Amino acid sequence: MKKKITYIVATLTTCLLFYLFWGPLFPWSPIKPGFQKIPSTKANVYIQNITSADSIVYELDQILADEEIFHQLNYEDRVTIIIIDPKTSMKRFAPWLKGSGYSVSLSMLNLIYIGPIARQSSFGIKTYLKHELSHMLMDQNTSFGKALKMHEQGWLLEGIAQYFSGHHFYSRSEFIALSKTNQINFSSLREQNPLDMSFPNLKLNYTYYQLFVDYLVNRYGLEYLQNFIKFYIEEPDSYRELFETIYGSELDTILDAFKGSLGL
Ligand SMILES: [Zn+2]
Repeated sequence: MKKKITYIVATLTTCLLFYLFWGPLFPWSPIKPGFQKIPSTKANVYIQNITSADSIVYELDQILADEEIFHQLNYEDRVTIIIIDPKTSMKRFAPWLKGSGYSVSLSMLNLIYIGPIARQSSFGIKTYLKHELSHMLMDQNTSFGKALKMHEQGWLLEGIAQYFSGHHFYSRSEFIALSKTNQINFSSLREQNPLDMSFPNLKLNYTYYQLFVDYLVNRYGLEYLQNFIKFYIEEPDSYRELFETIYGSELDTILDAFKGSLGL
């Protein structure tokens, strides 16, 4: 019996150590071999194989301050950002992400992963950092249940994150041309889970959301959007009513006008 207990404890300890140093528990591991720690006021970055292309990590305080000003919200909890080696896979850290190598915000854990594809991207990691930090900021300023509701309106979260990050998958004219040759239903803003979208579809959808937020800011001003965010994080279920109150027209009406502006 004693032997059996010793065996179970040894196995569990081995698993725990393995997950801590090599698996999904890595962010909580007290030591992170191969990762350089770069602390800032409200976040810690852990980065593997840093190069001059990653120097933006030293400007994190400024990025966080810009996020807070843009969204008119404050980071409530310290954020951990893990930036992975461009030549490895995110599967080790987040096996449930189907090997996605881009970036992800796990807001409940105050944790962001920047993956190998993001690091190799010609956009650089800045746009991915800004994108995920936008999600993190909005999620930190609401409850878990409301954050889940907000993710049902991914068009809004992704549109805001894309708009703020300045990360354009396609230019406006490229998007218009592509949307005419691709049979995509843009009548609904409700988004699929990004992990269930093909990458070409994700790029088109995210560009569409971004262009819509761009349209809102250009036509009505940033203050309207900030006002909308302020109330929306409190009542995500009432987003259509809130939208109409703040913008003075129904969401569908403004969406139609936006589509008209693209010639769709
Ligand atoms: Zn996103």
